Amino acid sequence: MAHIEFRTEQQEAVFHSPLENMQEVKQHLEVRFDPLTGRQSVFNSAMEGKAKTAFPDTDFDYLEQRAKKTEKECFLCPRDWKKYTPKYPEELVPTGILEKGETALFPNLFPIAPYHSLIRVGDKHLRTLDDFPPDVLADAFELALEFVRLCYAYDPGMRYATINANYQLPAGASVIHPHFQILSSPLTSTHHDLILQKSAEYWEHNSTNYWQDLVSTEKELGQRWIGQTGQAHWITAFSPMGQNEIMVVWPQKQSFMHWTREDVWDLAAGMSHVFKVWYEMKLSSFNFSCFSAPLDEESPYFSCIMRLVNRQNVVPDHRTDDYFLQKLMHNDMIINRPERLAQWMGEGFPST
Ligand SMILES: [Zn+2]
Repeated sequence: MAHIEFRTEQQEAVFHSPLENMQEVKQHLEVRFDPLTGRQSVFNSAMEGKAKTAFPDTDFDYLEQRAKKTEKECFLCPRDWKKYTPKYPEELVPTGILEKGETALFPNLFPIAPYHSLIRVGDKHLRTLDDFPPDVLADAFELALEFVRLCYAYDPGMRYATINANYQLPAGASVIHPHFQILSSPLTSTHHDLILQKSAEYWEHNSTNYWQDLVSTEKELGQRWIGQTGQAHWITAFSPMGQNEIMVVWPQKQSFMHWTREDVWDLAAGMSHVFKVWYEMKLSSFNFSCFSAPLDEESPYFSCIMRLVNRQNVVPDHRTDDYFLQKLMHNDMIINRPERLAQWMGEGFPST
């Protein structure tokens, strides 16, 4: 196993603060660097406990009002979803759409990849984060995997697949109804390309797989380790790409082609728990992306990973949490220390 460096830099900011009678205050900053990509995030200890101004708790009454207002026009709600569902050509999906339990997969009307599917995640128009039971999530992920494989068999140029979600309007969702999105493309996204490239470089220099080394190191350190469900390892990201980032790593699974039904259920069990803890933290909005090695080759340097991050909570006139720091500098801000978040997540984690 190669050594993984969790690099930080300490900084100070000094100014006269009206919050302290114009006395001189010194604020301590910690800049963190992602061990693989070097991507930075910054933590200001003065923000601790004062985060509500930047990241206010969810207004659950407002969330319910929004849900009531949008339910009538929702094309994913039980009344309408089959009426307005686009369908795949028979050669790709013989039944046009894929269905399992309350979940269903069909084409996105405005794709951003040659194959861009939408998964309807259950009948309920609104789910708070304590209401994502593992069986609904597992059904949705089973459909995702089935489609990734069907699509690759039908069109072998589609070597790159990701499973993604925007949940609630602050996360970029255009409908409140829970849904996931699958992209299959001959191209990687910018981030997917970066982690594949950096993982291959790491393999070349160290003759080991970065993700396997990361999981072993984090398990040994224990500070950001949450637990394990089957082959899925759950940790908080050292230098997160968004608020409260949870990383899932499957060290022994290079690509979606290697996933089994158990993997899907293990993912669903862990995710349902993560959402529940986020709910207890008064959070309501998230993004996730799950990345795989190219589907058509052996890639011992890479392992499947998933990143889950919170977005600004649902409140009236919410302020975006994606400003110049994230959008143009590709840095992020830490509100809850990853080490603290791991403790919260670890409580009652359904390890198997
Ligand atoms: Zn709906």
